[in-house]
Amino acid sequence: MIRLNDITSQILTYHPKANIELVEKAYVYSAKVHQGQIRLSGEPYLSHLLEAAYILTQMKMDVICVVAGLLHDTIEDTDVELEEIRRLFGEETANIVGGVTKISKMQFSSRKQQQAENIRKMILAMSSDIRVILVKLADRLHNMRTLGYQRPEKQRYIAAETLDIYAPLAGRMGINWIKSSLEDLSLYYLEPEIYEKIRNEVAQKKGEREKFLREMKELLFEKLAEFNIKASIKVRDKHFYSIYKKMSDQNLTVNQVYDILAFRVIVNSIKECYEVLGHIHSMFKPVQGRFKDYVSVPKVNMYQSLHTSVIGPLGQRMEVQIRTWEMDRVAEEGIAAHWKYKEGPFASKTDDKQFAWLRQLLEWQKSLKDPVEFLETVRMDLFPDEVYVFTPIGEVKAFPKGSTMIDYAYSIHSEVGEKCMGARVNGKMVPLRSQLKNGYIVEIITSPKQHPSKDWLEFVKTPRAKTKIRSWINRQEKDEGINLGKSLLEKALARQHLNLTNILKSEQLSAIAGELSFHSVEDLLAQIGLGKISPKQIIGRLKPKLGIKEEKPAGIVTKMVDRIKRRRLDHGIKVKGVSDMLVRFANCCHPIPGDPVIGFITRGRGITIHHKNCSHVVKSEPDRLVEVSWETSKDDIYVARLRVTSEERKGILADVSSIITQKNANIIEADVKTTTDSKGISLFTIEVQNSKQLQDIIVALKKVKNVLIVERL
Ligand code: MN
Repeated sequence: MIRLNDITSQILTYHPKANIELVEKAYVYSAKVHQGQIRLSGEPYLSHLLEAAYILTQMKMDVICVVAGLLHDTIEDTDVELEEIRRLFGEETANIVGGVTKISKMQFSSRKQQQAENIRKMILAMSSDIRVILVKLADRLHNMRTLGYQRPEKQRYIAAETLDIYAPLAGRMGINWIKSSLEDLSLYYLEPEIYEKIRNEVAQKKGEREKFLREMKELLFEKLAEFNIKASIKVRDKHFYSIYKKMSDQNLTVNQVYDILAFRVIVNSIKECYEVLGHIHSMFKPVQGRFKDYVSVPKVNMYQSLHTSVIGPLGQRMEVQIRTWEMDRVAEEGIAAHWKYKEGPFASKTDDKQFAWLRQLLEWQKSLKDPVEFLETVRMDLFPDEVYVFTPIGEVKAFPKGSTMIDYAYSIHSEVGEKCMGARVNGKMVPLRSQLKNGYIVEIITSPKQHPSKDWLEFVKTPRAKTKIRSWINRQEKDEGINLGKSLLEKALARQHLNLTNILKSEQLSAIAGELSFHSVEDLLAQIGLGKISPKQIIGRLKPKLGIKEEKPAGIVTKMVDRIKRRRLDHGIKVKGVSDMLVRFANCCHPIPGDPVIGFITRGRGITIHHKNCSHVVKSEPDRLVEVSWETSKDDIYVARLRVTSEERKGILADVSSIITQKNANIIEADVKTTTDSKGISLFTIEVQNSKQLQDIIVALKKVKNVLIVERL
């Protein structure tokens, strides 16, 4: 069992001027507040704190960190407030203890690959001080060493968590001895049989293997000495977990893995690297496909080395890494670069700075002259661009910094985003626009009545939320357009005694949509709703179709009767000196109000009204002509015929007809022909109120692109 004295004397070995009194004070304080608490092992709780603190001294940590180690469970397991720790042991100690407490309180539910990665990052992000993680690792290492006292299911749970979260964290910190200890202990609880098997076989073979390794090393030395190459040869030993990993990854037996001898040859120059490679290949048969030249082509993480596998003298495999001292140094520090390589989706450019920092950390760890100064400079902000929060079931999710409750809602499901009306953080309601903070437990409250708002776009951070909100708004605008268009068209149709539902059932609207180059009837309705096309235009197109394909609805019949009546009643024409004359309009020239007109007295049929320039009139007997003039009223409607000659172009008919309807004229009939020289000739029979309206239409039609001639017939 570790005693206070073990800790203080250990500190003094690497930091002779350390403030040992503070450690003693923490020890006394901790003993007092944890008094009466017993570990499952039956030992006083204090033993755990002493062990954790001792592990920290093995990591050569400073006094503050060791003190925090002694106090790391005070907040969680006693009545002590963080404020008291701050008052008695200072700001830094309190921060570390607070950080460790926060991490310990977290409940990580799922430990799938991506989850584990996020949890590790979250722990890093929540640790404003690297010592938080180091204390947590020391705590975990001692808990793993005493895991045997826990219930079996708890053993497996903690072992799995250690393997997934804490061992990799130790690896990233560059503290490999903690990493391998955590891994081996986890393996012991997770795969007890395999662990036992590996241990037995390794123990059996140990002597034999060591003897063989010595001989091989000897052999290599001699060979290299022949060629005047000064090399350092290291034997690489594998810990149980790495043997297990290799067994399962490469489907090998324990013996097969353990039989693999691994050497590292370190030389002074790149030239020598290749020379050594040549000599090794001349001594032993290389294994095909196992040679890797990371010297000329370094790995992404800057790692450089020559790797080869050869068959040893007894037929066993030997793995050899050959590198220079400089490459070896980079490989050691490369843990940091390796980290970058594994970065998640939010990898940022500031990573480089972090690696510089980590490289420095590793450099310092080697020379540890003044651990106090060293640790004071290593306050870290490893993932300044990310925040990590929990779902109510304990999953960890990563977000770009500044993300809000809405980003979170959309990350769960787009429907949750669309329906989110509130959020709870750690049980308390917060506004939707409030930002996510590390460690928040976030719960979204939805309502079927809620929907996204344009304002959200101003504060959401994630591309996913942005895209989803935008597409919802677009969809919404279109839906609104469709509904509005529908009701506009419905009203306009009703005035014509037509029913939208019936028309929607028929193919006519979709035919019109096609003519107007819309994708669908919905598009057409949306365009009406957005005011880009008028219901009148649609009805203008619809009518001729209905006239042909459908029985004429009562409305139209009534209207036609009205029109005929109006003509019969001689409305609009005053015949000079005559009253109650039967008047009709000539079918040859279709005069309309405003046109210069003249009357032709027919035999027994009253007076026919002609255009003054009508050829019939010119040829007729002057005696039978009579002066007439217009007497217009707004309700009158006259029929005119137009011939539009145009170049062939898709959509031209649509353009021409929409102009006519825009000018409030009705198209009664349209006849379209294409001539052999690719000209389009359209004949329109339209209803207008007067010649000014007709003139307007003609002028407008002449302006339509590709229209060549517009003639009144
Ligand atoms: Mn603890």
